[in-house]
Amino acid sequence: MKLDTVLVHAGVRRDPVYGALSVPIYQSATFQHPALGESTGYDYSRTGNPTRTALEEALARAEGGARALAFTSGMAALTCALRLFGPDDHLVVTEDLYGGTYRLLDHVLGLPRTYVDTTDLAAVRAAIRPNTRAILVEALTNPRMKRADLAALAGLCREVGLRLIVDNTFLTPCLCRPLALGADIVVHSATKYLAGHNDVVAGALIVRDAALGERLHFIQNAVGSALGPQESWLVLRGLKTLALRMERHQQNAARIAAWLRRHPRVEEVLYPGVSGMLSFTVKDPRLVPQVLRRVRLILFAESLGGVETLITFPWAQTHADMPVEVRERLGITDRLLRLSVGIEDAEDLIADLAQALEGECDGVRDEASAHGA
Ligand code: PLP
Repeated sequence: MKLDTVLVHAGVRRDPVYGALSVPIYQSATFQHPALGESTGYDYSRTGNPTRTALEEALARAEGGARALAFTSGMAALTCALRLFGPDDHLVVTEDLYGGTYRLLDHVLGLPRTYVDTTDLAAVRAAIRPNTRAILVEALTNPRMKRADLAALAGLCREVGLRLIVDNTFLTPCLCRPLALGADIVVHSATKYLAGHNDVVAGALIVRDAALGERLHFIQNAVGSALGPQESWLVLRGLKTLALRMERHQQNAARIAAWLRRHPRVEEVLYPGVSGMLSFTVKDPRLVPQVLRRVRLILFAESLGGVETLITFPWAQTHADMPVEVRERLGITDRLLRLSVGIEDAEDLIADLAQALEGECDGVRDEASAHGA
C-alpha cells in the first residue's frame, strides 16, 4: 500500500464488537486480569494502552519501521532515545537544531557531544571519536532549513558502528523516510505536522530493529513518558490527513518563498523547496517587532506544522538557550524570522505579510522578546 493509504487506514478497525471506524479512546489506567497469570494484552496504561497501540502501529507503518512508541512530547521521545547512552558515550550532533534539543543536551543530559555542520560529511567524520556512539541530525534543520545527506550519514554510521538518529519533525514520512535511507531511530515532535492542528503535545520514536524497540519501550515504561489515550487519538486522527496537508503546506510555502525573495525589505529566504517551513531575514532588525505586532491572519506563536500559519522569532524564542555567539555564527540573528506556513489560501497569507512588512520600521525591539518553549 502507498503511504497516503497507510495514513488513512493504519492502526484502525480494531473494534470487533461494534465495528467503530474510529479507534475507541480507552480511557482506563488499568485493565482487569481474566485470571492469575493471564492478561488481555494490557495491564496498566503506562506500559500499554490500546488507543496508543493503534497510533504506534500507524506510526510504525508510516515510517516503515518495526516498532513505534508514542510519548508525552517530542522532548520525551528524544530523551528516551538518548537514555540508550551513558556518561562516557560521545555524540556527534547537527549544530543547527531545535533549541530545546540543544537545551536538553547541554543543560540536562550533559552527554559528551560535538556540534558540527552535518551537511559536511568530512566534518562529521573528523568529529568521530573512539567513544562516539551515535550521530543525531534533523532531516531539515531548524531554523536554517539545511538538509543533510542521510544516506551518506547512514553509510558512515554503518562503517564506524554508530547509530543514526534522525529528527524527522519538519519533513514527516511524506517527504523523507529516514529508516529506508539507513537510519536507526526516527524522532518526531508529533505535536507538529503529524497531529497537525495545534491541539496536542506528543512525540514519537520509530525504529527499524524490533530489539532496539523493545529496549526503548523498557526505558519508556521505566521512566513513565508514554502518551495518554486522548492525545493518542488526536494524533491518530491527524495522521489521516497528513499527506493532503503536507501537499498544501508545501505549495503555500513555495509561493510565499518566491514572493519574499522579491520583497525589497527581505535580505535572504531559506526555503529548500520541501515542507511548509521557511525562514527569512529582514534587512532592518526593527522590522522584526513590527512584523510580529502587525500580522493579523498569521499568528505570532511558537510551534509549527499546524493548519494555521505561525511566525516565530528564533533568536528570542526557540533558540534563546543557545549562547549568543553560537546563534550568530549559525545565522540565527535578530533579523531572522521563521514561518510555519499553514493550509490557508496563499494569497491571504501574502497579503498579510505585505501589510506587516510595509511602512516605517517603527518597532521597539524589546517588544519582540517572548518566553522560549
Ligand atoms: N524536534 C523539533 C525539530 C522541534 O521543532 C521540536 C519542538 O518545537 C521538538 C523536537 C520538541 O517537540 P515537543 O515540543 O513536542 O516536545
